[in-house]
Amino acid sequence: MKLLLIEDEPSVVSFIRRYLTEAGYDVSVALDGQSGLQMATENSFQLIILDVMLPGMNGIAVCKALRKQHDATPILMLTALGSTENVVAGLDSGADDYLVKPFKQAELLARIRSLLRRNPDNATSTTTNNNHNNNVLKVADLELDLNTKSASRYGENIVLTATEYRLLEYMMRNPRRVLSRMEILENVWGVDFNMNTKVVDVYVNYLRKKVNRKEQPALIQTVVGMGYMLKEEE
Ligand code: CA
Repeated sequence: MKLLLIEDEPSVVSFIRRYLTEAGYDVSVALDGQSGLQMATENSFQLIILDVMLPGMNGIAVCKALRKQHDATPILMLTALGSTENVVAGLDSGADDYLVKPFKQAELLARIRSLLRRNPDNATSTTTNNNHNNNVLKVADLELDLNTKSASRYGENIVLTATEYRLLEYMMRNPRRVLSRMEILENVWGVDFNMNTKVVDVYVNYLRKKVNRKEQPALIQTVVGMGYMLKEEE
């Protein structure tokens, strides 16, 4: 497993590198945002650990740049600032999870494992073309191909990050049912994920922008005071 750590504080770098190397990961390090972005672009990593406060290009900008070039590598953001505002800014830029400094070693490892487990690209099962049609979820004109991990509507491809994919898969497996924020959080992010449900709203909004197109009927609906539902507009 190849991980990229983008962090400028030497003590944090050596602590994380030593710890993750002992845990069996192959860790590459970039000491600033610009070189981190370059390394992430030129190489293939299973996960990126990205500090927010970096000299020059900060972590938010690095994350945005990666997502803009359709790089869906899971990103774990490190932030010294635990305010909701900063967390939301990080998630808004396309990060999959965050960890507030200082954190415990075990916590870091748990988050990494959870992200690697969640990422469909790292699934251990190999793709087969048998029973292809059984691996396509359909709700109205929206399709999700579980083999190729791709979504489309009216045959038009929808580019999704790893988290967006998992969220859409969960909603498509539970169509026409009100899903509470907590239910979504538990099923998409996992029960060990001690985060507030704001993240659900953030990601449902991303998906909504991608799935609900102006000229097409809305599929992702807000059920005021209760949660969200995937269904055709009546
Ligand atoms: Ca830093």
